[in-house]
Amino acid sequence: MKPIFIQEVHLNQEVTNILIENQHIAGIGSHLPMPADAIKIVGRQMAAFPTVANMHTHAAMTLLKGLGSDQTLQQWLNESIWPAEKNLDDEAVYWGTKLACLEMIKCGTTLFNDMYFRLPSSAKAVAEMGLRSVLGFNVFGDGDELTDESFLRLREEVEGEGPLVQLSIAPHSVYTVSEKGLRHCAEMSQKYGTLYHIHMCETETEVRECQQQYGCRPYSLLQRLGVLEMTEGRFVGAHSLFLDPEEIALMGSRHVTVVHNPASNLKLGSGSQFLYTELCKAGVNVTLGTDGSASSNNLDMIEAARLMSYLQKGVRQDPTVLPAAELLSVATANGFSALGIDAGKIEVGKLADLMLVDLDNIAFVPDNDTLSGLFYAAHADAVDTVICNGRILMQHHHVDGEEEIVAQARQHARKLRPLP
Ligand SMILES: [Zn+2]
Repeated sequence: MKPIFIQEVHLNQEVTNILIENQHIAGIGSHLPMPADAIKIVGRQMAAFPTVANMHTHAAMTLLKGLGSDQTLQQWLNESIWPAEKNLDDEAVYWGTKLACLEMIKCGTTLFNDMYFRLPSSAKAVAEMGLRSVLGFNVFGDGDELTDESFLRLREEVEGEGPLVQLSIAPHSVYTVSEKGLRHCAEMSQKYGTLYHIHMCETETEVRECQQQYGCRPYSLLQRLGVLEMTEGRFVGAHSLFLDPEEIALMGSRHVTVVHNPASNLKLGSGSQFLYTELCKAGVNVTLGTDGSASSNNLDMIEAARLMSYLQKGVRQDPTVLPAAELLSVATANGFSALGIDAGKIEVGKLADLMLVDLDNIAFVPDNDTLSGLFYAAHADAVDTVICNGRILMQHHHVDGEEEIVAQARQHARKLRPLP
Protein backbone atom coordinates (compact mmCIF):
# COMPACT_ATOMS: atom_id res chain seq x y z
CA MET A 1 0.00 0.00 0.00
CA LYS A 2 1.35 3.44 -0.94
CA PRO A 3 2.13 5.97 1.82
CA ILE A 4 -0.34 8.85 2.23
CA PHE A 5 0.87 12.39 2.83
CA ILE A 6 -1.69 14.89 4.16
CA GLN A 7 -0.24 18.29 3.43
CA GLU A 8 -0.88 21.43 5.49
CA VAL A 9 -3.79 20.15 7.54
CA HIS A 10 -5.17 21.71 10.73
CA LEU A 11 -4.43 19.51 13.73
CA ASN A 12 -4.98 20.72 17.30
CA GLN A 13 -5.16 24.37 16.12
CA GLU A 14 -1.85 24.15 14.19
CA VAL A 15 -1.10 23.61 10.51
CA THR A 16 1.06 20.56 9.92
CA ASN A 17 1.67 17.52 7.67
CA ILE A 18 0.72 13.92 8.48
CA LEU A 19 2.49 10.92 6.96
CA ILE A 20 0.80 7.51 6.93
CA GLU A 21 2.87 4.41 6.19
CA ASN A 22 2.26 0.68 6.75
CA GLN A 23 -1.22 1.25 8.28
CA HIS A 24 0.24 3.58 10.94
CA ILE A 25 0.75 7.30 11.50
CA ALA A 26 4.46 7.49 10.69
CA GLY A 27 5.12 11.19 11.15
CA ILE A 28 3.56 14.53 12.07
CA GLY A 29 5.34 17.84 11.51
CA SER A 30 5.38 21.06 9.53
CA HIS A 31 8.80 20.26 7.98
CA LEU A 32 8.07 16.60 7.26
CA PRO A 33 9.26 15.68 3.70
CA MET A 34 6.80 13.98 1.34
CA PRO A 35 7.98 10.54 0.10
CA ALA A 36 8.22 10.44 -3.72
CA ASP A 37 5.72 7.56 -4.04
CA ALA A 38 3.12 8.98 -1.61
CA ILE A 39 -0.52 9.73 -2.40
CA LYS A 40 -0.87 13.45 -1.64
CA ILE A 41 -4.00 14.83 0.04
CA VAL A 42 -4.22 18.60 0.11
CA GLY A 43 -5.16 19.38 3.69
CA ARG A 44 -5.56 23.14 3.36
CA GLN A 45 -8.98 24.20 4.69
CA MET A 46 -9.33 20.77 6.36
CA ALA A 47 -8.98 19.72 10.00
CA ALA A 48 -7.89 16.22 11.04
CA PHE A 49 -9.63 14.29 13.82
CA PRO A 50 -9.48 10.66 14.87
CA THR A 51 -12.38 8.65 13.45
CA VAL A 52 -15.19 7.58 15.77
CA ALA A 53 -16.11 4.13 17.16
CA ASN A 54 -19.80 3.17 17.07
CA MET A 55 -19.78 0.79 20.02
CA HIS A 56 -23.28 -0.66 19.79
CA THR A 57 -25.32 -1.23 16.68
CA HIS A 58 -27.18 -3.80 14.58
CA ALA A 59 -25.91 -2.72 11.15
CA ALA A 60 -28.17 -4.67 8.79
CA MET A 61 -31.28 -3.35 10.58
CA THR A 62 -30.82 -0.15 8.61
CA LEU A 63 -33.07 -1.79 5.99
CA LEU A 64 -35.89 -1.64 8.58
CA LYS A 65 -35.53 2.00 9.56
CA GLY A 66 -38.76 3.93 9.61
CA LEU A 67 -40.94 0.84 10.15
CA GLY A 68 -43.33 1.28 13.07
CA SER A 69 -42.18 4.72 14.12
CA ASP A 70 -43.88 6.09 17.26
CA GLN A 71 -45.19 2.67 18.37
CA THR A 72 -44.72 1.19 21.83
CA LEU A 73 -41.81 -1.23 22.11
CA GLN A 74 -44.00 -4.36 22.10
CA GLN A 75 -46.15 -3.16 19.21
CA TRP A 76 -43.05 -2.11 17.26
CA LEU A 77 -41.47 -5.57 17.72
CA ASN A 78 -44.65 -7.63 17.14
CA GLU A 79 -46.15 -5.69 14.25
CA SER A 80 -43.18 -4.13 12.50
CA ILE A 81 -39.75 -5.57 13.24
CA TRP A 82 -40.21 -9.31 13.78
CA PRO A 83 -42.47 -9.86 10.72
CA ALA A 84 -39.95 -7.98 8.55
CA GLU A 85 -36.98 -9.86 10.02
CA LYS A 86 -38.64 -13.17 9.06
CA ASN A 87 -38.04 -12.16 5.43
CA LEU A 88 -34.34 -11.39 5.92
CA ASP A 89 -31.98 -13.57 3.92
CA ASP A 90 -28.20 -13.56 3.41
CA GLU A 91 -28.43 -11.14 0.50
CA ALA A 92 -30.50 -8.65 2.48
CA VAL A 93 -28.09 -8.79 5.45
CA TYR A 94 -25.17 -8.31 3.05
CA TRP A 95 -26.64 -5.23 1.34
CA GLY A 96 -28.08 -3.89 4.59
CA THR A 97 -24.66 -4.10 6.23
CA LYS A 98 -23.11 -2.40 3.19
CA LEU A 99 -25.63 0.44 3.43
CA ALA A 100 -24.87 0.78 7.15
CA CYS A 101 -21.11 0.83 6.49
CA LEU A 102 -21.63 3.49 3.83
CA GLU A 103 -23.57 5.67 6.26
CA MET A 104 -21.00 5.12 9.00
CA ILE A 105 -18.07 6.01 6.75
CA LYS A 106 -19.91 9.20 5.70
CA CYS A 107 -19.98 10.39 9.32
CA GLY A 108 -16.37 9.45 10.10
CA THR A 109 -16.80 6.00 11.68
CA THR A 110 -14.13 3.35 11.09
CA LEU A 111 -15.05 0.87 13.83
CA PHE A 112 -18.38 -0.61 14.84
CA ASN A 113 -19.34 -3.17 17.46
CA ASP A 114 -22.29 -5.14 16.08
CA MET A 115 -24.82 -7.70 17.21
CA TYR A 116 -27.03 -9.49 14.69
CA PHE A 117 -27.32 -12.75 12.76
CA ARG A 118 -26.18 -14.20 9.40
CA LEU A 119 -22.71 -12.98 10.35
CA PRO A 120 -20.77 -14.37 7.36
CA SER A 121 -22.84 -12.07 5.11
CA SER A 122 -22.11 -9.07 7.36
CA ALA A 123 -18.42 -9.97 7.56
CA LYS A 124 -18.14 -10.08 3.76
CA ALA A 125 -19.82 -6.66 3.49
CA VAL A 126 -17.59 -5.09 6.16
CA ALA A 127 -14.40 -6.47 4.64
CA GLU A 128 -15.34 -5.10 1.22
CA MET A 129 -16.12 -1.67 2.69
CA GLY A 130 -12.74 -1.56 4.46
CA LEU A 131 -13.70 -0.51 7.98
CA ARG A 132 -13.22 -2.38 11.27
CA SER A 133 -15.94 -4.39 12.94
CA VAL A 134 -16.52 -6.75 15.83
CA LEU A 135 -19.54 -8.92 14.93
CA GLY A 136 -21.43 -10.56 17.79
CA PHE A 137 -22.64 -14.20 17.75
CA ASN A 138 -26.15 -13.52 19.05
CA VAL A 139 -27.32 -15.96 21.74
CA PHE A 140 -30.81 -16.47 23.24
CA GLY A 141 -32.19 -18.90 25.87
CA ASP A 142 -29.72 -21.49 27.14
CA GLY A 143 -27.31 -20.77 24.29
CA ASP A 144 -27.25 -24.39 23.10
CA GLU A 145 -26.43 -23.17 19.60
CA LEU A 146 -23.07 -21.87 20.89
CA THR A 147 -20.72 -24.86 20.94
CA ASP A 148 -16.97 -25.12 20.37
CA GLU A 149 -17.70 -26.47 16.93
CA SER A 150 -20.23 -23.78 15.92
CA PHE A 151 -18.07 -21.00 17.35
CA LEU A 152 -14.88 -22.13 15.63
CA ARG A 153 -16.66 -22.68 12.32
CA LEU A 154 -18.23 -19.22 12.46
CA ARG A 155 -14.99 -17.59 13.56
CA GLU A 156 -13.20 -19.10 10.58
CA GLU A 157 -15.89 -17.79 8.22
CA VAL A 158 -16.09 -14.32 9.79
CA GLU A 159 -12.43 -13.64 10.50
CA GLY A 160 -11.43 -15.32 7.24
CA GLU A 161 -12.96 -12.33 5.43
CA GLY A 162 -10.09 -10.08 6.48
CA PRO A 163 -7.87 -8.81 9.29
CA LEU A 164 -10.23 -5.98 10.35
CA VAL A 165 -13.20 -8.23 11.20
CA GLN A 166 -13.50 -10.04 14.53
CA LEU A 167 -16.10 -12.32 16.09
CA SER A 168 -17.48 -11.73 19.60
CA ILE A 169 -20.03 -13.51 21.80
CA ALA A 170 -23.24 -11.55 22.24
CA PRO A 171 -25.90 -12.90 24.60
CA HIS A 172 -28.88 -10.66 23.83
CA SER A 173 -29.88 -9.57 27.37
CA VAL A 174 -30.69 -10.88 30.87
CA TYR A 175 -34.39 -11.07 29.91
CA THR A 176 -33.92 -13.20 26.79
CA VAL A 177 -31.01 -15.41 27.91
CA SER A 178 -31.24 -17.83 30.86
CA GLU A 179 -28.78 -17.94 33.77
CA LYS A 180 -27.29 -21.04 32.18
CA GLY A 181 -26.95 -19.23 28.83
CA LEU A 182 -25.38 -16.11 30.38
CA ARG A 183 -22.77 -18.23 32.15
CA HIS A 184 -22.11 -20.45 29.17
CA CYS A 185 -21.42 -17.37 27.01
CA ALA A 186 -18.98 -16.07 29.64
CA GLU A 187 -17.14 -19.40 29.74
CA MET A 188 -16.85 -19.40 25.95
CA SER A 189 -15.77 -15.75 25.93
CA GLN A 190 -13.05 -16.57 28.46
CA LYS A 191 -11.95 -19.68 26.60
CA TYR A 192 -11.59 -17.88 23.26
CA GLY A 193 -10.66 -14.41 24.57
CA THR A 194 -13.58 -12.67 22.85
CA LEU A 195 -15.63 -9.66 23.79
CA TYR A 196 -18.88 -10.29 25.74
CA HIS A 197 -21.41 -7.85 24.27
CA ILE A 198 -24.88 -7.62 25.86
CA HIS A 199 -27.84 -5.23 26.27
CA MET A 200 -27.97 -4.15 29.96
CA CYS A 201 -30.41 -2.08 32.03
CA GLU A 202 -32.02 -0.45 28.99
CA THR A 203 -35.43 0.12 30.57
CA GLU A 204 -36.88 0.37 34.06
CA THR A 205 -39.14 -2.59 33.24
CA GLU A 206 -36.11 -4.78 32.51
CA VAL A 207 -34.56 -3.96 35.91
CA ARG A 208 -37.86 -4.48 37.77
CA GLU A 209 -38.50 -7.85 36.12
CA CYS A 210 -34.93 -8.98 36.86
CA GLN A 211 -35.47 -8.10 40.53
CA GLN A 212 -38.76 -10.04 40.56
CA GLN A 213 -37.26 -13.11 38.86
CA TYR A 214 -33.79 -13.23 40.42
CA GLY A 215 -34.04 -11.01 43.51
CA CYS A 216 -31.34 -8.64 42.27
CA ARG A 217 -30.53 -6.07 39.57
CA PRO A 218 -28.98 -7.13 36.20
CA TYR A 219 -25.31 -6.31 36.94
CA SER A 220 -25.56 -8.00 40.35
CA LEU A 221 -27.02 -11.06 38.63
CA LEU A 222 -24.02 -11.24 36.30
CA GLN A 223 -21.68 -10.85 39.27
CA ARG A 224 -23.46 -13.69 41.10
CA LEU A 225 -23.14 -15.92 38.03
CA GLY A 226 -19.40 -15.19 37.79
CA VAL A 227 -19.89 -13.52 34.40
CA LEU A 228 -18.21 -10.20 35.30
CA GLU A 229 -15.18 -12.03 36.66
CA MET A 230 -14.80 -14.32 33.65
CA THR A 231 -15.18 -11.44 31.19
CA GLU A 232 -13.14 -8.81 33.07
CA GLY A 233 -11.72 -6.25 30.64
CA ARG A 234 -13.78 -7.72 27.76
CA PHE A 235 -17.34 -6.89 28.91
CA VAL A 236 -19.39 -4.35 26.92
CA GLY A 237 -22.80 -3.44 28.39
CA ALA A 238 -24.91 -1.54 25.87
CA HIS A 239 -27.26 1.12 27.31
CA SER A 240 -26.66 0.64 31.08
CA LEU A 241 -29.14 3.42 31.73
CA PHE A 242 -30.80 2.36 35.01
CA LEU A 243 -28.13 1.66 37.64
CA ASP A 244 -27.78 2.00 41.39
CA PRO A 245 -24.56 3.08 43.20
CA GLU A 246 -23.72 -0.46 44.27
CA GLU A 247 -23.83 -1.70 40.67
CA ILE A 248 -21.73 1.24 39.45
CA ALA A 249 -18.99 0.43 42.00
CA LEU A 250 -19.11 -3.20 40.92
CA MET A 251 -18.84 -2.24 37.24
CA GLY A 252 -15.80 -0.05 37.95
CA SER A 253 -14.04 -2.80 39.89
CA ARG A 254 -14.59 -5.23 36.98
CA HIS A 255 -13.39 -2.75 34.29
CA VAL A 256 -16.70 -2.79 32.46
CA THR A 257 -17.20 -0.79 29.25
CA VAL A 258 -20.64 0.77 28.78
CA VAL A 259 -22.14 2.17 25.58
CA HIS A 260 -24.47 5.12 25.75
CA ASN A 261 -26.99 5.22 22.87
CA PRO A 262 -28.80 8.52 23.43
CA ALA A 263 -30.80 8.62 20.18
CA SER A 264 -32.25 5.14 20.69
CA ASN A 265 -32.96 5.73 24.41
CA LEU A 266 -34.80 8.96 23.66
CA LYS A 267 -36.74 7.81 20.62
CA LEU A 268 -37.92 4.56 22.25
CA GLY A 269 -38.83 6.52 25.38
CA SER A 270 -36.45 4.44 27.52
CA GLY A 271 -35.04 7.38 29.47
CA SER A 272 -32.56 10.23 29.55
CA GLN A 273 -30.64 9.85 32.82
CA PHE A 274 -27.33 8.31 31.70
CA LEU A 275 -25.02 8.41 34.74
CA TYR A 276 -21.91 9.67 32.94
CA THR A 277 -20.19 11.44 35.86
CA GLU A 278 -20.87 8.64 38.32
CA LEU A 279 -19.66 5.94 35.92
CA CYS A 280 -16.43 7.82 35.12
CA LYS A 281 -15.71 8.39 38.82
CA ALA A 282 -16.06 4.64 39.45
CA GLY A 283 -13.57 3.84 36.67
CA VAL A 284 -16.08 2.51 34.12
CA ASN A 285 -15.01 3.01 30.47
CA VAL A 286 -17.76 5.10 28.84
CA THR A 287 -18.23 4.84 25.07
CA LEU A 288 -20.84 5.93 22.55
CA GLY A 289 -23.09 4.21 20.02
CA THR A 290 -26.16 4.70 17.87
CA ASP A 291 -27.91 1.33 18.35
CA GLY A 292 -29.51 -0.14 15.22
CA SER A 293 -31.19 2.16 12.72
CA ALA A 294 -34.52 0.42 13.32
CA SER A 295 -34.63 2.24 16.67
CA SER A 296 -32.26 5.22 16.30
CA ASN A 297 -33.08 5.81 12.61
CA ASN A 298 -29.54 6.75 11.67
CA LEU A 299 -25.95 5.79 12.40
CA ASP A 300 -24.69 9.34 12.73
CA MET A 301 -22.11 9.42 15.52
CA ILE A 302 -21.66 13.21 15.35
CA GLU A 303 -25.35 13.54 16.16
CA ALA A 304 -25.06 10.88 18.90
CA ALA A 305 -22.15 12.79 20.48
CA ARG A 306 -24.11 16.04 20.42
CA LEU A 307 -27.18 14.39 21.95
CA MET A 308 -25.07 12.84 24.70
CA SER A 309 -23.42 16.15 25.52
CA TYR A 310 -26.66 18.14 25.53
CA LEU A 311 -28.45 15.53 27.65
CA GLN A 312 -25.69 15.61 30.28
CA LYS A 313 -25.64 19.40 30.39
CA GLY A 314 -29.42 19.79 30.35
CA VAL A 315 -30.47 17.03 32.72
CA ARG A 316 -27.81 18.05 35.27
CA GLN A 317 -28.39 21.77 34.65
CA ASP A 318 -24.62 22.22 34.35
CA PRO A 319 -22.93 23.31 31.08
CA THR A 320 -19.46 22.34 32.35
CA VAL A 321 -20.27 18.61 32.37
CA LEU A 322 -18.71 16.55 29.56
CA PRO A 323 -16.63 19.23 27.77
CA ALA A 324 -15.87 18.73 24.06
CA ALA A 325 -12.37 17.29 24.60
CA GLU A 326 -13.80 14.62 26.89
CA LEU A 327 -16.61 13.94 24.43
CA LEU A 328 -13.98 13.35 21.73
CA SER A 329 -12.36 10.63 23.88
CA VAL A 330 -15.75 9.02 24.61
CA ALA A 331 -16.53 8.88 20.87
CA THR A 332 -13.05 7.76 19.74
CA ALA A 333 -10.23 6.46 21.99
CA ASN A 334 -12.46 4.90 24.66
CA GLY A 335 -14.16 2.73 22.02
CA PHE A 336 -10.98 1.64 20.24
CA SER A 337 -9.24 0.78 23.50
CA ALA A 338 -12.21 -1.30 24.71
CA LEU A 339 -11.72 -3.50 21.65
CA GLY A 340 -7.93 -3.61 21.97
CA ILE A 341 -7.30 -1.54 18.82
CA ASP A 342 -4.47 1.00 19.04
CA ALA A 343 -6.28 3.87 17.31
CA GLY A 344 -8.56 6.75 18.30
CA LYS A 345 -5.80 9.39 18.59
CA ILE A 346 -3.72 11.16 15.95
CA GLU A 347 -0.25 10.42 17.29
CA VAL A 348 2.88 8.90 15.73
CA GLY A 349 2.79 5.11 16.08
CA LYS A 350 -1.02 4.81 16.28
CA LEU A 351 -2.99 2.94 13.63
CA ALA A 352 -3.99 5.34 10.85
CA ASP A 353 -7.74 5.82 11.41
CA LEU A 354 -8.56 9.47 10.86
CA MET A 355 -10.94 11.83 9.13
CA LEU A 356 -10.67 15.25 7.53
CA VAL A 357 -13.49 17.74 8.03
CA ASP A 358 -14.10 20.59 5.61
CA LEU A 359 -13.42 23.96 7.25
CA ASP A 360 -15.31 25.66 4.40
CA ASN A 361 -18.48 23.94 5.63
CA ILE A 362 -20.66 26.64 7.21
CA ALA A 363 -20.51 24.86 10.58
CA PHE A 364 -16.81 25.77 10.78
CA VAL A 365 -17.13 29.39 9.65
CA PRO A 366 -15.60 31.43 11.31
CA ASP A 367 -13.83 28.53 13.11
CA ASN A 368 -13.31 30.10 16.50
CA ASP A 369 -12.91 26.60 17.98
CA THR A 370 -12.69 23.62 15.62
CA LEU A 371 -13.55 20.94 18.18
CA SER A 372 -16.59 22.90 19.33
CA GLY A 373 -17.52 23.21 15.64
CA LEU A 374 -17.36 19.44 15.16
CA PHE A 375 -19.60 18.51 18.07
CA TYR A 376 -21.86 21.54 18.53
CA ALA A 377 -22.32 22.82 14.98
CA ALA A 378 -21.38 20.29 12.30
CA HIS A 379 -23.32 17.47 10.68
CA ALA A 380 -22.01 14.41 8.86
CA ASP A 381 -21.85 16.40 5.60
CA ALA A 382 -18.78 18.23 6.99
CA VAL A 383 -16.75 14.99 6.83
CA ASP A 384 -14.78 15.09 3.56
CA THR A 385 -12.25 12.25 3.83
CA VAL A 386 -12.06 9.05 5.89
CA ILE A 387 -8.99 6.84 6.26
CA CYS A 388 -9.02 3.44 8.00
CA ASN A 389 -5.92 1.36 8.65
CA GLY A 390 -3.94 3.53 6.25
CA ARG A 391 -6.44 3.18 3.38
CA ILE A 392 -8.66 5.95 1.98
CA LEU A 393 -12.32 4.84 2.29
CA MET A 394 -13.88 8.17 1.31
CA GLN A 395 -12.53 11.26 -0.39
CA HIS A 396 -14.49 14.43 -1.18
CA HIS A 397 -17.61 12.70 0.22
CA HIS A 398 -17.44 9.85 -2.29
CA VAL A 399 -17.18 6.15 -1.41
CA ASP A 400 -16.45 3.67 -4.21
CA GLY A 401 -19.54 1.70 -5.23
CA GLU A 402 -22.02 3.81 -3.26
CA GLU A 403 -24.51 4.11 -6.12
CA GLU A 404 -24.88 0.32 -6.35
CA ILE A 405 -25.22 -0.02 -2.58
CA VAL A 406 -28.10 2.45 -2.52
CA ALA A 407 -29.89 0.72 -5.43
CA GLN A 408 -29.47 -2.79 -3.98
CA ALA A 409 -30.48 -1.74 -0.46
CA ARG A 410 -33.69 -0.16 -1.79
CA GLN A 411 -34.55 -3.32 -3.67
CA HIS A 412 -33.90 -5.66 -0.73
CA ALA A 413 -35.73 -3.43 1.77
CA ARG A 414 -38.85 -3.55 -0.41
CA LYS A 415 -39.01 -7.35 0.03
CA LEU A 416 -38.89 -7.08 3.83
CA ARG A 417 -41.81 -4.77 4.43
CA PRO A 418 -44.74 -6.62 6.00
CA LEU A 419 -47.84 -6.63 3.80
CA PRO A 420 -50.49 -4.16 5.02
ZN1 LIG B 1 -29.26 -2.82 20.61
